[in-house]
Amino acid sequence: MLTIGMLGGMSWESSAEYYRLANVLVRERVGGLHSAKIVLLSVDFAEIERMQVEGRWDDAGKALAEAATGVQAAGADFLLICTNTMHKVFDQVQAAVDIPVIHLGDTTAEAIKNAGLTTVGLLGTGFTMDQPFYRERLESHGLRVLLPSPQDRATVHRIIYDELCLGIVRDESRRAYQDVIARFDGAEGIILGCTEIELLIGQADVPLPVFPTTRLHVEAAVERAVL
Ligand code: GLU
Repeated sequence: MLTIGMLGGMSWESSAEYYRLANVLVRERVGGLHSAKIVLLSVDFAEIERMQVEGRWDDAGKALAEAATGVQAAGADFLLICTNTMHKVFDQVQAAVDIPVIHLGDTTAEAIKNAGLTTVGLLGTGFTMDQPFYRERLESHGLRVLLPSPQDRATVHRIIYDELCLGIVRDESRRAYQDVIARFDGAEGIILGCTEIELLIGQADVPLPVFPTTRLHVEAAVERAVL
């Protein structure tokens, strides 16, 4: 079995889910007492979030690139960046290591294509929804990506940073997300494009197919790790 590298802490609420899911999926696949081989390096999210807000993406990229070298040195065979937003600095991270970095946008796009869909609504942080880096990666797979209105984007972003990254899960916020999803015009499916969103809302809450990026990323990792 290969060792899965994880760059986490962004936020740790979702990294804990990455860790848990990887182990659950290995147990399902291999059985017995088998568990996932994981090297997890967890950063202080407050430092990263400050860089995001100040637009210091190059500094954030350097910090994550350095962290990635640590994960590689600790024996990981490949790496996951456990956040959609920080895929903005994917190229910096990949350039710093020899091991492959599995792009979360690619694993998500593959799942959408496998489901036979082409037009999807994207929920994520303001950075992920407003900036082109993530949308363009999805579009490079031939997908059409719809965004919520600016007001809805602000709501989705606020709930991620003020609640989900702090471990706060509220029914009212789930309803707010359901309302945002209902306002997508023409979406065939919904990308839960922030690794904390699936802690709040899941397939049972949404009439359209949902694509939970944490689970899809971990599934791709376990697929690669279990030989
Ligand atoms: N985990 C989140 C994501 O998937 C947001 C936190 C961050 O900015 O990294 O985008």
